[in-house]
Amino acid sequence: MERTVFTVTDLKQYAYCPRIVFYTYCLPLVRPTTGKMDEGRLAHEEARDRERRRTLRIYGLENARRHFDVWVASDQLGLTGRIDLVLEVAPDSPGSAVAPDLSGSAAAPDSSGIEWIPVDYKQTARRAGPHLRRQLAAYGIMLEETWGGAVRRGFIYSLITRRAEEVLLTAALRREVRETVAAMREMVEQERMPDPPSSRKPCVNCEFRRFCNDVE
Ligand code: SF4
Repeated sequence: MERTVFTVTDLKQYAYCPRIVFYTYCLPLVRPTTGKMDEGRLAHEEARDRERRRTLRIYGLENARRHFDVWVASDQLGLTGRIDLVLEVAPDSPGSAVAPDLSGSAAAPDSSGIEWIPVDYKQTARRAGPHLRRQLAAYGIMLEETWGGAVRRGFIYSLITRRAEEVLLTAALRREVRETVAAMREMVEQERMPDPPSSRKPCVNCEFRRFCNDVE
């Protein structure tokens, strides 16, 4: 059996309801493609395009270089994704978190001393919950594997409030990412349909609802 390569969108869906990922990979023919999903994607892309013209002051990194829509992947995790924005911070820039004497450590930046910082845009005013933090950590892990060097932190930027939250990519957060991907893989490989979420709130507007006969 070929190894499934998941996307960061799958991680997001899994947090909403694991069954959506099950449908995507185990019953791909029943998976709906809905106007609602396309509209959400379009709104996100339009908001993101507007953000490109804005200042970097919000991150405290005005001298950083910006890379938009960066494709990354991790062979170790079996995961791919596209990062909204990656900030490139030179070691001597104001705001850089990379001390020059860190090379050679387990979490060393690449030889140039550049710090890479992933930024994920969100379309909510609420503080970033655990699943958004996991997504950001997944981007960081993939960025390390794709571009090399260490990623120590990232930002979750609200397109609504125009505020950025800094998130440290701790060992615990990285472990959560690995465990979540492993749980998704086990579910798909064993073709085991998960139970619906304990709260039926996510079912109310779920695009997959007509496939779930056990939820009211
Ligand atoms: S209807 Fe409910 S249980 Fe079914 S996929 Fe959607 S959220 Fe999950």
